Amino acid sequence: MKIEEVQSTTKKQRVATHTHIKGLGLDVGGNALPMAAGFVGQAEAREAAGLVVDMIRQKKMAGRALLLAGPPGTGKTALALGISQELGSKVPFCPMVGSEVYSSEVKKTEVLMENFRRAIGLRIKENKEVYEGEVTELSPEETESVTGGYGKSISHVIVGLKTVKGTKQLKLDPTIYDSLLKEKVAVGDVIYIEANSGAVKRVGRSDAFATEFDLEAEEYVPLPKGEVHKKKEIVQDVTLHDLDAANAHPQGGQDILSLMGQMMKPRKTEITEKLRQEINKVVNRYIDEGVAELVPGVLFIDEVHMLDMECFSYLNRALESSLSPIVIFATNRGICNVRGTDMPSPHGIPVDLLDRLVIIRVQTYGPAEMVQIIAIRAQVEELVLDEESLVYLGEIGLRTSLRHAVQLLSPASVVAKMNGRDNICKADIGELTTLYLDAKTSGRLLQEQEDNSTP
Ligand code: ATP
Repeated sequence: MKIEEVQSTTKKQRVATHTHIKGLGLDVGGNALPMAAGFVGQAEAREAAGLVVDMIRQKKMAGRALLLAGPPGTGKTALALGISQELGSKVPFCPMVGSEVYSSEVKKTEVLMENFRRAIGLRIKENKEVYEGEVTELSPEETESVTGGYGKSISHVIVGLKTVKGTKQLKLDPTIYDSLLKEKVAVGDVIYIEANSGAVKRVGRSDAFATEFDLEAEEYVPLPKGEVHKKKEIVQDVTLHDLDAANAHPQGGQDILSLMGQMMKPRKTEITEKLRQEINKVVNRYIDEGVAELVPGVLFIDEVHMLDMECFSYLNRALESSLSPIVIFATNRGICNVRGTDMPSPHGIPVDLLDRLVIIRVQTYGPAEMVQIIAIRAQVEELVLDEESLVYLGEIGLRTSLRHAVQLLSPASVVAKMNGRDNICKADIGELTTLYLDAKTSGRLLQEQEDNSTP
């Protein structure tokens, strides 16, 4: 069982365009540097976000949430991601859009709950150790079978082990006795014992074991010979949703290894409330035992005005929970009706939730900032543009949207290649604007086509 292979199921595609964002780019005093951590401009919002990060660290955001308000294409997602990165590199970031809750198959609150659990991480620590010693005693402990009284069964096996530090008696599981028999281990042989956080997992003859474990590998820290041969700490980061999904079809034991192991099996049943409670119980036990640590992440809900009363009351309750991530909302709406009601409210958010919010305003970018952001993305995508094309893309960004301008980069490089160049120049982008449409123009054309095709 290789738990290292388990992958977290984050919504990678939505974060892909923000890979250059590595934090908020603030100095030690919390002031925004003009260009740092992939961030350009938006200084006030970044500084305000930095203060929120401090509040989160001081646990002063419990029960509260953040709202980023401002026009589309002003880096709200980028800011939310920056906040999550300031909190730590393994902090989960789960982006969603308000309209995602409306599905014909799944309840609205179910969608919200799933995303909440995608934004809560769990760091599981295990110590893997390999002991080496000479077998001094090997005796199965036999007990009368309680039910039949006929045969005898092995309850455990005692292995005496002589190490440099002295002789030790270990009581091992009967399955381990089988493996010892298979390997024809006898008194006097040198064996290795592998343990995970103190519990013996496997034993074997030294030669076979050493090759299999690659005991020379650097990840095993060598310790004084004879006591613990080699030691390695395995740290695994998963989200609560990973655990839910992996255990939707429960089988096997309830220790963290079998919980993790089941992650590789295909999902067979629904994730139910009962299953989540079971997972929470196991998680809480591991936290109490110090094996696991909770890592609250960031849940980013864009277009929050798309949520309705049912969602808002769910959110109010969920924010109170001890298992709550940091929730960041974003909207480009001013005063509008709370969805499904005729009750106007700022940003379409009911007042009781508004009371809990810290609000940050984001500003529209000027041409210079647009050009700088596009230049950063070009660098990340390893594309070379001349000054003229950067300025041209900046103009396109101002006219359509920053996102559209950024998205023109990779097709522009394809056009440049077709024109026999590695560098992108203005003509390539010009060619593209006749080939590709921005979202606004495209939407309008689609609408026209639809109107023409319906009789
Ligand atoms: P919003 O949620 O406000 O619509 P967004 O962050 O989802 O914005 P855009 O603002 O459309 O996305 O940004 C397009 C691209 O520009 C993204 O790759 C984003 O990471 C990047 N970007 C936006 N603002 C900044 C900034 N201030 N500094 C650096 N990169 C930025």
